[in-house]
Amino acid sequence: MGQKPSFVEVADRVWVRRHRWYDVSVSVVGGDRGLVVVDTHASGRAMGEVLDDLASLRPGDDVVAVVNTHAHVDHVLGNRAVRERRPGVPVHAHEDAAAAMPSHLAELRTDLEGSPDTEQDGDPHRDELLASLGDPVLPDHTLSSVAVVDLGDRALELVHPGRGHTAGDLVVRVPDADVVLAGDLVESSDRDRATPGLGPDSFPLEWPLTLDFVLQLVTPATVVVPGHGPTVDRAFVQEQRADLGILAETVRDLAGRGVRVEDALGAAPEWPFPAEHLGDAVRRIYAHLPRAQKRLPLV
Ligand SMILES: [Zn+2]
Repeated sequence: MGQKPSFVEVADRVWVRRHRWYDVSVSVVGGDRGLVVVDTHASGRAMGEVLDDLASLRPGDDVVAVVNTHAHVDHVLGNRAVRERRPGVPVHAHEDAAAAMPSHLAELRTDLEGSPDTEQDGDPHRDELLASLGDPVLPDHTLSSVAVVDLGDRALELVHPGRGHTAGDLVVRVPDADVVLAGDLVESSDRDRATPGLGPDSFPLEWPLTLDFVLQLVTPATVVVPGHGPTVDRAFVQEQRADLGILAETVRDLAGRGVRVEDALGAAPEWPFPAEHLGDAVRRIYAHLPRAQKRLPLV
């Protein structure tokens, strides 16, 4: 990644801009009716830069819709920056993402307010995040399973393939360009060896099946744009799906053998992702397993 981010056209009128902060991507799809922005970075300042760049890339084209692929801060806090330049622009998200967003953002705000300021060794973006967290723009167009954004000469499909990274993930498909914007259901960032975000609000037991659904939208020629990291292909998604499946099955097996949740990480000889990123995932899988597949510890 170069010093200065810029939009790269990954397929016909589909641009992706990658950023050092969070290694997060902002994508833009162009059509006759204007531009759709998919994910809006982590602050008003950051998104303002993206919009300046977009205005020089596509002078005269208006942003006609925003899509948030899920509720997390690094994908939504620039919503306001778009709204300020395009009053009334619709913001689309899955209904569960829209429902989770206020509490997710409020939690982060509380954490940051209690953390060291930028002068010390806290988050160098603390003040910038707090400024945007004070008055976030939430999605006002929600979907439960599927929606279409019509750009005149092309249409975008917003699809909820199931739960995974969060309860409210969606992917954006651009059928005529054979592109799938996957949000954080797929991650290829070389930070943390491309480990997908298995946080305390993730659904790691369902994620493999959710990716099976995504794979039905992906051909060997499809360009898949992860929320973090470079574009990937079908084989990469299949591999990430397989690794998530191994993770789920490994934990299921441990739970079935009566291993306690707090002992599980140390009880398997190997994991498909670095073990230090799997604490929440293991807890979530234990919590989500049907009762019949858990055993009480024998000692
Ligand atoms: Zn993310």
